[in-house]
Amino acid sequence: MSVVEKVQCLIIGSGPAGYTAAIYASRANLKPVLYQGLQPGGQLTITTEVENYPGYPNGIMGPQMMVDFEQQAQRMGADIRWGLATKVDFSSKPFKVEIDEEKWIEADAVIIATGASAKWLGIPSEQRLNGHGVSACAVCDGFFFKNQEVAIVGAGDTACEEALYLSKLCTQVHMLVRRSEMRASKVMQDRVLNTPNIKVYWNSETLEILGDHTVEAMHIINHATKEETTVPIKAFFVAIGHQPNSSLFTGVLDMDEQGYLITKPDSSKTNIEGVFACGDVQDKIYRQAVTAAGSGCMAALDAERYLGAMGLH
Ligand code: NDP
Repeated sequence: MSVVEKVQCLIIGSGPAGYTAAIYASRANLKPVLYQGLQPGGQLTITTEVENYPGYPNGIMGPQMMVDFEQQAQRMGADIRWGLATKVDFSSKPFKVEIDEEKWIEADAVIIATGASAKWLGIPSEQRLNGHGVSACAVCDGFFFKNQEVAIVGAGDTACEEALYLSKLCTQVHMLVRRSEMRASKVMQDRVLNTPNIKVYWNSETLEILGDHTVEAMHIINHATKEETTVPIKAFFVAIGHQPNSSLFTGVLDMDEQGYLITKPDSSKTNIEGVFACGDVQDKIYRQAVTAAGSGCMAALDAERYLGAMGLH
């Protein structure tokens, strides 16, 4: 193992959580080094307009917002680098993180902000129309389809929550459930089933999303009856779960059965003292840019306190 550098605070990940942690850590003079990972800017770089982040009265395109975050972190002095964390060794202090499978960096404190990735159906039209009516976030993009007909696929709590959210904005929500029952909690199912403008299609899957430049319809099949139908819609929301980007920490950090890192209540502390987690990699409930940013702030403050208490800062 060739260690090339020792830093005080290492941040892994570059969405709103990572960049906010970098802003706070820089201002606390922790001289943070941030590695951006495979998708600099994270999930917001694959969204279009963001209208619910306070401070942007006219809205902002997701990718531009992440450029703004990055520039702000840089202006505060954060050292932001291309590179992917490929291995970690948290068994002794200072902690060690391998970058790009070639060099190891030591750090007194590590902040993990590796985010999560939405799961997709995997049909070609879903990719082609992504950002043009296909979205994995109803709370982000539902507003653009006010008073229109939309579809949502999924049958977990997220799909139910998002279907209910959409039902308040859209004239009709077509909800595709692939089995004859939902996975969601009973209370959420009841709410969905009692909402007049949500129509549930049981045993149904999407064959194709139709439209040249924007979503115009979906072609679906009912597996029980083998009947195929085309339903006109303006947007197609995918809510079939997220995958936290936490595989790097398997066997090292405590995580729940879905792989979300577990943080101690009211903090960003993981089970290893000096290693903190923030953003979507530890949040399966809210998953918003603003909540991720808030938890990035928490992680930097927790890291600062830890380093101070250890006499490392
Ligand atoms: P889940 O994994 O719970 O549900 C995913 C849903 O998507 C399932 O119904 C699944 O169907 C369906 N699905 C998966 N793949 C496909 C596919 N290829 N085609 C069609 N449907 C598919 O994910 P959620 O994001 O809903 O929830 C994640 C966790 O977060 C859960 O523990 C949930 O309870 C929690 N949560 C809690 C909330 C709250 O408390 N307010 C809000 C949101 C989430 P199938 O059932 O057939 O496998």
